[in-house]
Amino acid sequence: MKYIDEEKINSLLELNPAEDEIEKILEKTKTLQRLTLEESAKLLAVKDEILVKKIYKSAEYVKDIIYGKRVVLFVPLYVSNTCANSCVYCGFAANNKTTVRKKLTPAQIKEQTEILLKRGHKRVLMVAAEMASSDANVDYYIDAVKAIYEAQYNGNKIKRVNVNVAPLSVEQFKKLKAAGIGTYQIFQETYHEATYRKLHISGAKTDPDNRLDAVDRAFKAGIDDVGIGPLLGLYDYRFEVLAMLMHIEHLEKTFGVGPHTISVPRIEPAPGADYASNPEYPPSDEDFRKLVAVLRLSVPYTGIIMSTRETAQMRDELVNLGVSQISAESKVTPGGYEEDKSSHNKSNERQFTLNDQRSLNEIAASLISRGLIPSFCAACYRKNRTGEHFMDLAKPGDMKHICDVNALTTLKEYLEDFAEPEIKEKGYKLIDEYKKNLDAASLKILEKFFKDIDAGVRDEYV
Ligand code: SAM
Repeated sequence: MKYIDEEKINSLLELNPAEDEIEKILEKTKTLQRLTLEESAKLLAVKDEILVKKIYKSAEYVKDIIYGKRVVLFVPLYVSNTCANSCVYCGFAANNKTTVRKKLTPAQIKEQTEILLKRGHKRVLMVAAEMASSDANVDYYIDAVKAIYEAQYNGNKIKRVNVNVAPLSVEQFKKLKAAGIGTYQIFQETYHEATYRKLHISGAKTDPDNRLDAVDRAFKAGIDDVGIGPLLGLYDYRFEVLAMLMHIEHLEKTFGVGPHTISVPRIEPAPGADYASNPEYPPSDEDFRKLVAVLRLSVPYTGIIMSTRETAQMRDELVNLGVSQISAESKVTPGGYEEDKSSHNKSNERQFTLNDQRSLNEIAASLISRGLIPSFCAACYRKNRTGEHFMDLAKPGDMKHICDVNALTTLKEYLEDFAEPEIKEKGYKLIDEYKKNLDAASLKILEKFFKDIDAGVRDEYV
């Protein structure tokens, strides 16, 4: 696979670092510098429990310094499960005859978005199974993005639509960008070429280089917020992490900036896809915690996303170790959001199994009770703080106060418009605590925004 030097990765996997080498690397992480591949490989090799705990402590420190207590919340919106590929681990695979296919119309997409707006969501990840990369399908994605942005509920609108769709050409990516998307997200699934070829059995997705290159093409089209990730369970997680870091090095070298986010999906059972119930390399919970912590330390300024594939407990833990964005009350079925939340989606329409079914209100309450700020902020994208510009601001730590003001403003809006009384009370107590840490200038802006919210104004940000 292009840019991925398997031989080098395999030799890095042989490293057996001494304790003092690990201590030295952990000392370096305090400076918030990016780690080298070799340093990341050494951290991944650690097995000793005490040293692993030290890695966790360092990850907590870096997370806290760079991201503070903010946790960004988003919700996926599946618009289609019609797929042109057959991947052995996926419920949407074209050769899975049990899957009932659905492709939502713009009107249905708008309706789904309205349901999400009523629950308080502000950030959507629009997801489509891999349809052919035709111009007609690009037009479909664009209409879907438009429908999401058009939906409203009581003056509330979706602020940012990120997308996870099939790889496109540079020209097609340009059209998608013009529709106002935030991040373009695409997972390589596995960076190990032989495994990739074995598990992707038909369709355009069988070409691993076309998929890897999609990220380059997105950058060339001017989309400078890109999200990447491996599907964990297909091959050795240490190989995948190092290969992804190699991919990031390639992007940094070529475009001056790495991905905006990385995701760490772990494989889950999927209807009609036996492989997903028996993956060859399932990372244990221990491995999983460690790899998230090592990623946090390796690329401190890159957001880490965790989905509801993980349990509530695992997500709660990993938010402290480095995860900066989590999804809430997800459905992986097109048209899966219903006014009546008690109904369950049909299993033969969904992509895989989910393990955290808490509502947005429950997740917000849980974050607040742990002193964390549920954030619905999308200011950076709207202020053009993306790609290199985002990194320039994020690296010297200039973002901290901007982010706190924006996050607390979105939290107050949520509390006013959507939270149950008990959460509202706890949320305001948390806001009062955080106000104490703001500098005078930031506090002045926050107080103005808060007054405006009380007067009915929404969606102010710096
Ligand atoms: N455009 C996407 C694609 O490439 O298939 C469709 C959307 S899907 C949400 C995004 C990701 O879900 C895929 O890239 C894959 O990593 C992940 N996925 C597929 N099957 C899965 C399974 N059984 N368990 C967990 N994640 C899975």
